[in-house]
Amino acid sequence: MSEEIADKIVRRIRAEGPLTIAAFMAMALHDPEGGYYARRGPIGAAGDFTTAPEISQVFGELIGLWCAEFWERIGRPDPVILAELGPGRGVLMSDLLRAAGTVPEFRRALRICLVEASPVLRAEQERRLRLAQPAWVTRVEELPDGPMLMVANEFLDALPIRQFVRGAGGWSERMVAVDPAGRLVFVDGPASPAASLLVPSRLRYCAPGTIVEICPAALALAGALGSRLARLPGAALFIDYGDFPTASGPTLRALQRHRPVFALTAPGTADLSAHVDFAAFAEAARAAGAEVHGPTSQGRFLTALGAGLRLEALSARATPAQRQSLESGVRRLLDPGEMGDLFKVVALVSPGLASPAGFDPGIDPGEPAQR
Ligand code: SAH
Repeated sequence: MSEEIADKIVRRIRAEGPLTIAAFMAMALHDPEGGYYARRGPIGAAGDFTTAPEISQVFGELIGLWCAEFWERIGRPDPVILAELGPGRGVLMSDLLRAAGTVPEFRRALRICLVEASPVLRAEQERRLRLAQPAWVTRVEELPDGPMLMVANEFLDALPIRQFVRGAGGWSERMVAVDPAGRLVFVDGPASPAASLLVPSRLRYCAPGTIVEICPAALALAGALGSRLARLPGAALFIDYGDFPTASGPTLRALQRHRPVFALTAPGTADLSAHVDFAAFAEAARAAGAEVHGPTSQGRFLTALGAGLRLEALSARATPAQRQSLESGVRRLLDPGEMGDLFKVVALVSPGLASPAGFDPGIDPGEPAQR
């Protein structure tokens, strides 16, 4: 079955010429017939990758408390939209809603909207979240107007990226082509002024050989949310793995059954993702009118929200075996050597509000780094 989408990509390249990596990713992930998200349930031990809400219930619970606290701060609007981008199996939302139940007026005010492209995952969300009666949309632009709280874990890393290579003659775009044996391969396009304009100005003068990634869809999303938040009260909380400040170097990766594979070998059967450039994302949201808090590290954020206390409370009622798995889950989320440092949290917020819970004021983005 997976040959179908690989064949489709090869046919398109033979007809139209090499594809940008973004166009390749869009087909490999979202083609309605053979795309990765169209066909499989990718998340969890039996899938290709796992995520924070799947590792520990504490993750979604603390985010639920963050939302309740923020709702108080914007004057307890009722109703308030609670939107999630890319809810996966619905685990984060289900843990979040359980914690939200501790503030009953907040829980009652919530109108849940899920933004999901994958029919397979939407079916799973329907099963898990039926009682909460969510509404589904496929694009952020379709969300209703009104005060809004938005959460998104590991959504931005799944958006298509483009890569640019600094050659002796300037910048060129890295493309996906077909070799004489019919295999998909990376090639460097011609050097062009258009390519160099797309490279972030801070990275434009890197050494020859440097590869730089941009994610136009993430920047467009930041812009759309930034202007929405300037107009309507709310906040959008993004948690993902990536860089701050902006870094150079290729990070596109493919995972199949929790193992890395070459990004072009298995379109439709491997998850594709890339590091999020949090500095560029924050800048785009700010330029459109939102205030931005963070990014801070996931470890610091969850610790500031009380991960330790929540773990203690759960452990007090647990069997020794449950206690051990609770502890190891929370450790995985917080440890700098595991997800604690690489994963970052950023909040886009309507202007004029105090700093939301979990963020230290004022972090300087500093100079670009090399990965
Ligand atoms: N947040 C979940 C799942 C992360 S996987 C968790 O933490 O477990 C990425 C999610 O984003 C999936 O639900 C996937 O179907 C969805 N997704 C990816 N690209 C999308 C797009 N362009 N539009 C809407 N949803 C998308």
